[in-house]
Amino acid sequence: MPTAIPFRKRDPGVAAQTASFNDIVFPKIYEEAWGSSDPNSLDQRTDFDRARIFLMRIANMTPDPLIIQELRNIVSNPQNKTVQALATAIQHRIFGNSHGSFATTPLMQSVRFMLLKSRVPELILSDRTRSVVDFFFDPTLERNLNPLPTGEVSVYKYVPGRLKVAIIGGGPTALASAIAIAEKGAGSVEVHMYEKRWVEKQLPNGEIVVDYPPTARRRDQVVTLQDSVTSLLSRPSYQALFAGRPERVWPGSANIQIRKVEDRFLKRVQDPEFQGLVFLHCEGVTREDLAKVGDFHVLLGADGAASWVRQSYFHGYENERGRSYALGLAFDRPAGLPWSQSLNVFLTLGQTRYLLNASDHDGRGYLNMQLTEEEWHKMLSVDGQPVHFGRPGCFRKPDGSIPEGFEPSQVFAPSEDRSSPLWTSISDGLKLFGFKDEEVINVVRIPIVVQAVREGVQLLPPQDSINVKRPHALVAVAGDAAMTVHFWPGRGLNSGIKAGLSLGDELVHALNSGKFIGMPINAMKEYNDFILKLQGREHDKRSIPILNQSGSPEMLGWLLQKANSVPDAVAIEWLIGAMTQIADRLQRRDDWSYDFVENVEPQLRIVLRQLAPLTLKEMAVSFPWPTREMAGAEVLPIRSMKAEEKQKWLNNLWGLLKDEKSKDSRAAPPPPQNGDRPTSSARFEAPKGGKARPASLMPPSRDSLDSGSLRRSNATQSVRHSRNLSVPGEGAPRARSPSPGPGGEVSLSRMLTVHKKPPSSVLGDALSLALFRVEAE
Ligand SMILES: Cc1cc2nc3c(=O)[nH]c(=O)nc-3n(C[C@H](O)[C@H](O)[C@H](O)COP(=O)(O)OP(=O)(O)OC[C@H]3O[C@@H](n4cnc5c(N)ncnc54)[C@H](O)[C@@H]3O)c2cc1C
Repeated sequence: MPTAIPFRKRDPGVAAQTASFNDIVFPKIYEEAWGSSDPNSLDQRTDFDRARIFLMRIANMTPDPLIIQELRNIVSNPQNKTVQALATAIQHRIFGNSHGSFATTPLMQSVRFMLLKSRVPELILSDRTRSVVDFFFDPTLERNLNPLPTGEVSVYKYVPGRLKVAIIGGGPTALASAIAIAEKGAGSVEVHMYEKRWVEKQLPNGEIVVDYPPTARRRDQVVTLQDSVTSLLSRPSYQALFAGRPERVWPGSANIQIRKVEDRFLKRVQDPEFQGLVFLHCEGVTREDLAKVGDFHVLLGADGAASWVRQSYFHGYENERGRSYALGLAFDRPAGLPWSQSLNVFLTLGQTRYLLNASDHDGRGYLNMQLTEEEWHKMLSVDGQPVHFGRPGCFRKPDGSIPEGFEPSQVFAPSEDRSSPLWTSISDGLKLFGFKDEEVINVVRIPIVVQAVREGVQLLPPQDSINVKRPHALVAVAGDAAMTVHFWPGRGLNSGIKAGLSLGDELVHALNSGKFIGMPINAMKEYNDFILKLQGREHDKRSIPILNQSGSPEMLGWLLQKANSVPDAVAIEWLIGAMTQIADRLQRRDDWSYDFVENVEPQLRIVLRQLAPLTLKEMAVSFPWPTREMAGAEVLPIRSMKAEEKQKWLNNLWGLLKDEKSKDSRAAPPPPQNGDRPTSSARFEAPKGGKARPASLMPPSRDSLDSGSLRRSNATQSVRHSRNLSVPGEGAPRARSPSPGPGGEVSLSRMLTVHKKPPSSVLGDALSLALFRVEAE
């Protein structure tokens, strides 16, 4: 706690320029009214006696008769027996427990002086004292009168009260944010979290803790957390997250069940070091009952993709950039996964129809399947209702009965028609990774809406914050509430954690440099900038390329329609070729966590041969990921980076910039000749280091899609109308050949037929970069 020892300045000129924004300047008459504090002086009055006399003298100087009377009442009230009690009475009876403006007043300065002289801010022993200090030394209030007192003055250090942050939501982003804010704030910020899924629980030793009840709705997905993100956590938070056992699956990252992230961060946030700093409230909050949150400076919406905070305060700032559809099959196996994680990775990376992300430690996770629009509408339970997280579907048990916890009406409709092509695709997805039907514990359809706010911080309207003690508050969003991404690249929670860290950094930095005085929206400019940069990186460089290539239901529909034109033998060779190349490259990487396996190809053949020929063809035509566009420097909260990481990151960034510059100077395009078009660096070019994709791999043009029987989906419409992107074939100059027309199947099948195995020019670097979940090399 900073000390309140004053230093005197006699020169009014010097006093006028206070050395720090936290210097508080009092006129000399305050010192005279207080009297000498010298222990050797004859004046041996207590601080309380001095405070009463001081207040009476101040009262006599106050022009407002009502305030004079109120001060007299307070001083003479025998119930006010301490300096804190006098200040509390003034806070409530004169200020009405609220600040009408961020400016300071002579009365407020008097109370501050009295509190500093009595050293109250240094000895906060009770909630009441904390409340008084937080009120009169609110970090967002002006420290000084304007103009400053002239003549002889004394200067003290302002001892700012706590900044209060209220977080709506207690999911992984909210928890990561609360921990980061509390760690970085080091006592200067107080966090209140509101989560509707939590309850209070009494431990056998009588201690009360906050936890999830057994009935709470928990998510089954396993997420991949990048080392570049988790290494930014403090050591105790990293330790809490992985319990000393990060599960290495994809290079440069660790897999973990999302419920474990929540459980472990929830435990961490209840560590003794955060006691009195982070308060957990087991209740939901809506806009209508926001008043129950009480006072706060900053409201953080970390309430997920359907965030009411975003919808209420960022309305008109939401920007949908495209959507995609997926099926999620949650599974639970008592003993790990059927295949090795390395085989799972090769199988996943060799196509884009299926994605397995699972934990071998827990035998849990999700098998995901990208869906066409037509398939999406069939993701229903037998009663015709869509299966979703709120009401998932199930498979019947082998004896035909319904699994526990489900109603007969919740049986997943496609599983009842086992001869349908849709069921074949789904059950082949399970076979691909060795799962049995009975290991599937629920089925959901997942809309993937790529969406973001255009600003990450807003002013909270005063009518919504009636219990806020200042003219206004700020509202920010983080995690899925701020931005939703395509989950195939596995960056949603990574981004949420980064946002939480950045918020902690920037909030505390702004607080410590006085930017919060007056609560301008600019106080959180750095956080806002970070959110916008992160969005640009994750949307333009990850989600949108995926949507454009195969993620949009329309494009996937087009590809799958053409699948049948691929000969059976070609499809399997293509997949084997792609997967073995991936295996070869990945296994050579230093950060590959598994032993080198020689016989990958025979293993792959055994697995793939079990699948229906059409499934193999669909997988073959789903193509590699557009890694070229995904590569590049990550957006990281720079203040959280350790020195050596920062240096590495800067070197990397510098290298990328140099590459770009030399590419620009080398590849200065010759002026287009008759009909010549400049080479495209856009969507369908081979990834970094690879050669151009063959003409036959060019995607369908917009014309070809429109002229076919495919209906243009809303998803692609929104992609088309968004800022920087275009629908397949639109806008991008065609460098190599025109995209296929309605007879586009010729190009697909010819490409697959001619090459039999994927040509290394196409797949080499594209697949070897281990594609979407792996950091660019
Ligand atoms: C299948 C799948 C796979 C994924 N894989 C990855 C991956 O590999 N890597 C990765 O980084 N990300 C991945 N993601 C994304 C990741 O799961 C999300 O980005 C992450 O869960 C978002 O966390 P959040 O805390 O922002 O939001 P949420 O997890 O949605 O949490 C919001 C919380 O707010 C609470 N809440 C909502 N409203 C209120 C209210 N009014 N009052 C109080 N509380 C409220 C909710 O109960 C919830 O606890 C995947 C997503 C899916 C669907």
